[in-house]
Amino acid sequence: MTKKERYTAVIDYFHTNVPVAETELVYDNPYQLLVAVILSAQCTDKRVNLTTPAIFAKYPTPIELAKASFDELFPYIRSISYPNNKTKHLIGMANMLLEQFNGEVPMTVEQLVKLPGVGRKTANVITSVIDQQPNMAVDTHVFRVSKRLGLVTEKASTPLAVEKELIRFIPEELVHKAHHWLILHGRYTCLARNPKCEQCGLSYLCRYYIRSLKK
Ligand code: SF4
Repeated sequence: MTKKERYTAVIDYFHTNVPVAETELVYDNPYQLLVAVILSAQCTDKRVNLTTPAIFAKYPTPIELAKASFDELFPYIRSISYPNNKTKHLIGMANMLLEQFNGEVPMTVEQLVKLPGVGRKTANVITSVIDQQPNMAVDTHVFRVSKRLGLVTEKASTPLAVEKELIRFIPEELVHKAHHWLILHGRYTCLARNPKCEQCGLSYLCRYYIRSLKK
């Protein structure tokens, strides 16, 4: 199977079986998504979604969030991983939005990564989810699933290397959706420790599965 055939088969499978693929984070506008994605680092979307309604009610825009003190905001974030850093990042992010971006969330990766708490992965999520830009955010699920399926080479050892390989083969208009396909597959089927290969419709082409049969 050529690389192109592999990509075509995987995309066709997801098109048919997962026609709707969206972020599971709950948000109403770019500011809320940015807050949620910053909070979601090393944390489940489910937990973030339990936390954000109170934050959005108390701090509906960057203006209110920028005025928050550490001690005011921290209790809202306490139950999430790395609460100290995330509290500082959210306040810093809101201040920078006001000072440098007129209170609006910028929509380029280059601008977004200037914000506290925002790395390349977060910037890719924001620009692809809000603006459907062809930016592939590589989190732990995307990294694992794309390697197991053989979408990327064994030597792609960093998220950036995986990102570059994926966007070379995925049609530009599908990159934002493919990100969610790979995440959802990793979250519910291709689990890190015990992948559900017997239930997986991609096992016939999966590099990891085929190798495991030979062992
Ligand atoms: S066959 Fe198994 S390892 Fe391969 S993608 Fe499916 S669940 Fe993951």
